Amino acid sequence: NQLTSLPPEIVQLTSLKGLYLGTNELTSLPREIVKLTSLEMLDLRNNQLKILPESLLELKMEILYSDGYLREGINLYDNPIESPPLEVVKKGKGAVKAYFDSLKDGEKEALNEVKVILVGDGYAGKTSLLKRLTENKFDKDEAQTQGINIEDWEVKEKDKDIKIHFWDFGGQEIMHATHQFFLSKRSLYILVIDGRKDDKAEYWLKHIESFGGDSPVLVVVNKIDENAGFDLNNLFLQNKYKGIIGFYRVSCKTGKGINSFRKVVKRELAKSKLLETTWAKTWFNVKNRLEKMEESFINFERYKEICEEELLIDPAQQDTLIEFLNDLGVVVNFKDFNLEDTHVLEPNWATNAVYKVINSELLAENKGALHFKSMTKILEQQTEKDFYYPREQYRYIIELMKKFELCFGINDNSVLVPDLLPVSEPKFKFDYEGALNFFIEYDFLPKTVMPRFIVKMHNDIVKNRLWRTGVVLEDKHFNSTAVVKADHEAKKIHISVNGMQRQDYFAVIISSLRGINNSFEKIDAIEKVPMPDNPNISANYEDLIYWEGKGETTYIPPGSKEKYDISELLGRVSVKGKNEIFILDGVRTAIRSKLFSHKDKMGDEE
Ligand code: GDP
Ligand code: MG
Repeated sequence: NQLTSLPPEIVQLTSLKGLYLGTNELTSLPREIVKLTSLEMLDLRNNQLKILPESLLELKMEILYSDGYLREGINLYDNPIESPPLEVVKKGKGAVKAYFDSLKDGEKEALNEVKVILVGDGYAGKTSLLKRLTENKFDKDEAQTQGINIEDWEVKEKDKDIKIHFWDFGGQEIMHATHQFFLSKRSLYILVIDGRKDDKAEYWLKHIESFGGDSPVLVVVNKIDENAGFDLNNLFLQNKYKGIIGFYRVSCKTGKGINSFRKVVKRELAKSKLLETTWAKTWFNVKNRLEKMEESFINFERYKEICEEELLIDPAQQDTLIEFLNDLGVVVNFKDFNLEDTHVLEPNWATNAVYKVINSELLAENKGALHFKSMTKILEQQTEKDFYYPREQYRYIIELMKKFELCFGINDNSVLVPDLLPVSEPKFKFDYEGALNFFIEYDFLPKTVMPRFIVKMHNDIVKNRLWRTGVVLEDKHFNSTAVVKADHEAKKIHISVNGMQRQDYFAVIISSLRGINNSFEKIDAIEKVPMPDNPNISANYEDLIYWEGKGETTYIPPGSKEKYDISELLGRVSVKGKNEIFILDGVRTAIRSKLFSHKDKMGDEE
């Protein structure tokens, strides 16, 4: 016959002894089939069954795989079975049962593995601390870490064998953009502060909070051999940053404080929630296989194959596992369409390529413009120790840099890296007085916000009107131009828009910035409107909306005695509510096509 499914009523035939369904097109069996309790023979040969329900085990018949007719048992011969794996099915009912059991709670094991991330300014002593912790050694001429240095350390604490993956980041400022993607939530953080310098503890604590959420943080003041008097305002920081577990003072040079700090690290890890994750045995098997592989990267098909060889058949589980492995740092895998096919087994393989490109002289000479042709030269293997980058992976590296919002495509064959743009603002004319002016005030303005914004808005950039911290934009639909600039000293981003439909263009710009701001876990970005006659005085955008809603028509901003017309102030900006934009019908299509064209090019999720 051509049956693709069974009628549900069939399960009412509780006295049925034999059911011959061979040579049909069945793709699945109803769970309720177990109600056919009298069955002694179920012939399912030559169907299209891929997934067998676990309930099949409840039928009191053996599971068989034989090309001939059998009087007894469930015969599954000639089906494209995937789950449980065919090999398992061929071994019979016992093996099938074991397979299903292995997916259940009883067979799980504790992972006991954790990622520990060292952060802090370059030269603070991160690498030195890592060396002290793991080998108790010190090198007074420690070389600058390039990119990311990953080291494994195994310790025994309270009967637990804990495997620690230390991630030690190089300090170059330009790299913070790439680092943020490795600052994961399931991690312990160690912040290293240089005890000889003015501390930047808050900058880093903010950074950790932004990307790591409430992950635990150990704050270490290093180099106390040189400046014993240096101290942080512990109580103040502790109250402000809830993730802080404690403060420790060490000298990597003399070794002072190291032993007790090492104990703290072990103790904190042993009691950390991070270790409570449990995995099915098959997951461990896949992980072990991947860790032993020599390759720097594999493609998706190969990963799937390995999973299947280790009896991890369910695609949903394969996906979950890869996410875990990504958090642990065993594999780097990004979900984006252009990136998902490459599974990086050696995180340094990927980051080093990005670092090589970013730091290349060629790129600096070209003021941030990179032609794909030069990739061959930049990524060339110079010594045997260097990673090998086959040509077909160049696209991946470029996509990765786009993902990090480090660059955007100028044309089909080249990209631009805004971080390497000239620092000084070019000369151009813009009527700031008549413009719609607005600014965003940050409690912490990550260096990456402006380059990411430039990357997002790259379709609108007025030729040559961009520099490292600002950009001039133009939109032909709206007949408007805008200047957007970051002031890192004041932690502000200024937006000025001029033109026919400046309010609408403003809406597009602010929504793009909000998208970036929302990507940080914790960041305060307050949107403000400067007073037209006195830019030193400003009103909170939210307050204006609030008072307008209460029926007020005028508002006296803090620090002023003047009354301002609320609708006039708000009339300058057409954004309503924190996350919505109201846009006139006529321009909606224009905006939509703009947002979507961005989406296509950038793989943007908004
Ligand atoms: P990183 O950039 O944060 O990884 O810092 P490094 O570990 O490379 O250390 C930077 C420099 O500081 C190196 O020259 C180290 O030898 C030196 N250093 C590290 N720890 C100490 C310390 O406790 N005391 C002193 N005097 N120097 C240290
Ligand atoms: Mg270092």
